[in-house]
Amino acid sequence: MTYRAPISDMLLALNHGAGLQAAVRAGHYGDFDADITTAILEEAGKFATDVLAPLNRIGDQNGIKLKDGKVTTAPGWPDAYRRWTEAGWNAVSGPEAFGGQGLPLAINAACTEIWSASNIAFGLCPLLTLSAIEALDAHGSDELKRVYLGKLVSGEWTGTMQLTEPQAGSDVGALRTRAERAADGSYRITGSKTFITYGDHDMTDNIVHFVLARLPDAPAGTKGISLFLIPKFMVNADGSLGARNDIHPSGVEHKLGMHASPTCTMTMGDHGGAIGYLIGEENQGMRCMFTMMNQARLGVGLEGVGIADRAYQQALGFAQERRQGRAIGKQGDGSDPIIVHPDVKRMLMQMRALTAAARTICYATAVALDVATRATDAKVRTEAAARGALLTPIAKAFSTDIGSEVAYLGVQIHGGMGFIEETGAAQHYRDARITAIYEGTNGIQAIDLVTRKLGAQGGASVFALIDELSAIVKQVEVSNDPAFGSTGAKLRDALSALDRTSRWLLERLASSPNEALAGATPYLRLFGATLGGCMLASEALAVRKEGGDAQRYVALARFFAETMSVQAPSLEKTVTDGAESVIGADAVLLG
Ligand SMILES: Cc1cc2nc3c(=O)[nH]c(=O)nc-3n(C[C@H](O)[C@H](O)[C@H](O)COP(=O)(O)OP(=O)(O)OC[C@H]3O[C@@H](n4cnc5c(N)ncnc54)[C@H](O)[C@@H]3O)c2cc1C
Repeated sequence: MTYRAPISDMLLALNHGAGLQAAVRAGHYGDFDADITTAILEEAGKFATDVLAPLNRIGDQNGIKLKDGKVTTAPGWPDAYRRWTEAGWNAVSGPEAFGGQGLPLAINAACTEIWSASNIAFGLCPLLTLSAIEALDAHGSDELKRVYLGKLVSGEWTGTMQLTEPQAGSDVGALRTRAERAADGSYRITGSKTFITYGDHDMTDNIVHFVLARLPDAPAGTKGISLFLIPKFMVNADGSLGARNDIHPSGVEHKLGMHASPTCTMTMGDHGGAIGYLIGEENQGMRCMFTMMNQARLGVGLEGVGIADRAYQQALGFAQERRQGRAIGKQGDGSDPIIVHPDVKRMLMQMRALTAAARTICYATAVALDVATRATDAKVRTEAAARGALLTPIAKAFSTDIGSEVAYLGVQIHGGMGFIEETGAAQHYRDARITAIYEGTNGIQAIDLVTRKLGAQGGASVFALIDELSAIVKQVEVSNDPAFGSTGAKLRDALSALDRTSRWLLERLASSPNEALAGATPYLRLFGATLGGCMLASEALAVRKEGGDAQRYVALARFFAETMSVQAPSLEKTVTDGAESVIGADAVLLG
């Protein structure tokens, strides 16, 4: 089954739930003309349906091949990539000074959802290139930007992001790849990186690797890491490609999913060391890498949204076709489509509501990150930066967790056929799984949320957000619309649980950090369930206010509040009452 971008849902999420329209009206987006948003998303949807979606299964079945030190992608992949760059999709949010369209991150976020939904393994390549562009633009020298940035923005060359080594995964500070200073001001890099996405491929002439390495005199841990740009092929003074650099794919992984995305072991230094150029300053690599990682974390969250929506569309189509049993109360021979059964309706609604909530959370993150760089008022920028920082781990972890959950339900709705590859439901389930692991596992995101985001300034950014969400709940309450059911009351309870749990965690961060960390993951879920519920309610209110057909949005918000946000108070108990039993788990695990 093919994919159709849900443009009206996306526009509602972007303009209202995520606050793009209000930010544009407040002047935070400068001269950006928001009227072009619909046209961009429609064109993106068309490209995704016509070019990317048909390759999704082909990529899964054919995978990639490593032969004679070169990676070959699946049939049709290089051609699709050529069409992608020719259509300008790579350059959507790239800097205008280097040929980009300079469009807001929020617009690119919606496009990223579309690429991920239609073909997640394809979309991952430009997602990483975009992160590389951000890091080079923010921290690179003028000379490096002159040579590399334009080609990365256009997509003529792609970028990789190389942190992981066998002993250095979540603990990046343990990396051992070495960099030696060379007489000409460049560096020679030796070592090996594992799990490198699109580390090699045949879609472009050159690849620009962004590699973390350690200088001989560097301090231990993350304070001693530097970031280097290492081209696959050296670039001559006239811009033509020169000698092959000493960085090679020495292996590719066989994976649960994402078969079409090459995951490479990269070896540097078999022939004297890969020539690399420092980005930023020596030993400041983590700072530069964070620029890339935050972009990439939002991007991976959007992968979760995309794969969830694809799985939902497929399950909805199947549930309307597959006939089994009769609807309760219906007489006579024959059978009804399974969508008549309450348990199937429940699963479909759960898929749709989780997807819609995660979408808005991701888009809201993008809007905050946009305002943090585009607003003219310094105070507005600072507050938006804090909001973007707070939302990033939630966007990444909540959206990718629900991506897997929704894909799981998609398989379930297909019954036995879900387990059979030919329907495609199984591929979404397999492909979704990695998103909760890479770009910092979801456990690491939850720790980031509790320690660095909640922990900053006594939780100021969390409590400011709770106040804003409370105003939305108030509007639901005063609407007196019976179609909302108990949405207002359920969201009010969820907000109270979020407030209390945040305060409890702040206290434990100071007095018993292990207890705070034990509750980090359920806290992130509690946050997502509350935030998502309030955002869906705000979208329903916006449609009502504009006099549109609000019924289905009110019903969706109500479903989320009454079945998902309602979990917040019990998640509070999991965090607060469960902490001791987690801390005491050694008796069970090691006893
Ligand atoms: C398909 C694929 C593509 C990838 N692409 C790239 C890429 O392009 N570039 C790149 O650099 N890397 C890439 N990675 C690597 C990926 O980012 C890492 O796998 C991920 O960061 C986790 O590291 P790890 O596998 O070493 O797991 P570990 O760090 O060993 O973690 C194992 C478990 O322990 C938990 N854990 C670890 N430390 C802590 C802690 N301090 N507190 C609490 N829990 C903890 C983790 O949450 C996890 O559940 C890719 C991986 C895969 C599989």
